[in-house]
Amino acid sequence: MQPTYPPEASEFRDKITDFLDTNLPSGWTGIGALSDHERVDFQDGWRKILRANNLLAPNWPAEYGGGGLTHIEQVILNEEFAKRGVPTAGGNDAFSIGMVGNTILVWGTEEQKSYYIPRILDGDDVWCQGYSEPDAGSDLANVACKAELDGDEWVINGQKIWTSAGSTANMIFALVRTEPDNTKHAGISFLLVSMDQPGVELRPITNMVGQDHFNEVFFSDARCPKGNVLGDLNNGWAVGNTLLGFERGVGATTTSLGFGAEYDQFVAMARERCLTDDPHVRQDIATFYTNIQIMRYRGMQALTRYLRGDNPGPESSIGKLFWSQHHQAITESAMHMMGADGMVGFGKETRGGLGAPVIGTDNTPSNWMASFMIARPGTIYAGTSEVQRNIVGERVLGLPKEPRADSGPWKDSR
Ligand SMILES: Cc1cc2nc3c(=O)[nH]c(=O)nc-3n(C[C@H](O)[C@H](O)[C@H](O)COP(=O)(O)OP(=O)(O)OC[C@H]3O[C@@H](n4cnc5c(N)ncnc54)[C@H](O)[C@@H]3O)c2cc1C
Repeated sequence: MQPTYPPEASEFRDKITDFLDTNLPSGWTGIGALSDHERVDFQDGWRKILRANNLLAPNWPAEYGGGGLTHIEQVILNEEFAKRGVPTAGGNDAFSIGMVGNTILVWGTEEQKSYYIPRILDGDDVWCQGYSEPDAGSDLANVACKAELDGDEWVINGQKIWTSAGSTANMIFALVRTEPDNTKHAGISFLLVSMDQPGVELRPITNMVGQDHFNEVFFSDARCPKGNVLGDLNNGWAVGNTLLGFERGVGATTTSLGFGAEYDQFVAMARERCLTDDPHVRQDIATFYTNIQIMRYRGMQALTRYLRGDNPGPESSIGKLFWSQHHQAITESAMHMMGADGMVGFGKETRGGLGAPVIGTDNTPSNWMASFMIARPGTIYAGTSEVQRNIVGERVLGLPKEPRADSGPWKDSR
């Protein structure tokens, strides 16, 4: 099954292909071929090119500086970029454009939209995500970081943790408790806070491969203007969930392309190692092929919602659960196939950064090892697999809520 596009779409597709041919470096094979250092440099330069051509956040309204493209044009752009292994934005833009920018467009006041959206596009504000706390991960409604009004400003005290890319951000969007007497979902607000102030301290956390990808963030009498609440005061739970829909739904229409390229490499490796007659390998090849097709159909489903103008809702948990589990399975199977090579690793290693595989990566044991590592946290960030299953059960399928430890008949016996 292939989705059909209106006739004018092919004209736009040609325009994007021409743009890529003109602006990509010669010999371009995909961002997966670049080392960490080269990738950062390329993305910085590429972001500027996209901005200059109005192709950064292409479907954001033109009145705030966005590209003003239609939904279908945005999808075509995403498809063509994904096929060539080209990023659609820069370093922190998963947070700046993909998460908070999109959420500001849904929930922001006119003033907030006119102020923040152009600043995001111009790179004046670079964002990170302040959701998790030591006692609030899956149980996000347990956030304890609090904000109290002092005249025209909020004064923020508390801690966030696992803040990805915090060191390259100057702004943080934070879920904070603004009604101390309310617990859980009520009394939380979504605040927009500057990181460039004495009351905000960032401490890096080194991950298992030695990168300082995420951080702890401490707020000690940090401040932000009273008007920096996104959505209504104490309505942060709803705003925060809109953002999570964007976070989990990211790339839904193109995910199968990156994973499809990785699958092709898996099959190529099986052939190279003369393992295509091995019944376990054959079984895995069939399973992973099926998974890619499911991702493709899920992508079309997401496309239908998107073209209707719907924001990604709890359904985005289905895709997030599916691709993250698939990624662990295929990289584990690749490690088995490689045997001792998978323990030592050799050949070019360029596979860095979280998320779906990118096109251009060489089919080397080192890259499979890196992919195996990258797949590990995929079932944790943006909500664990267990949490996604709860969301799908309760909010998509409408099944009864699961028993909770903090409510129900046993709560007083704890
Ligand atoms: C690479 C990476 C990047 C991240 N980046 C960010 C970021 O930028 N900003 C941010 O705010 N956070 C970030 N996080 C944090 C992430 O959102 C949390 O780790 C995640 O929500 C899980 O929370 P937790 O670590 O506190 O685990 P816990 O919530 O303590 O969970 C522990 C285990 O219990 C299980 N569990 C918990 N509740 C239930 C339940 N009701 N039913 C069944 N099982 C349950 C979980 O599935 C898990 O297996 C990042 C995490 C990672 C790994």
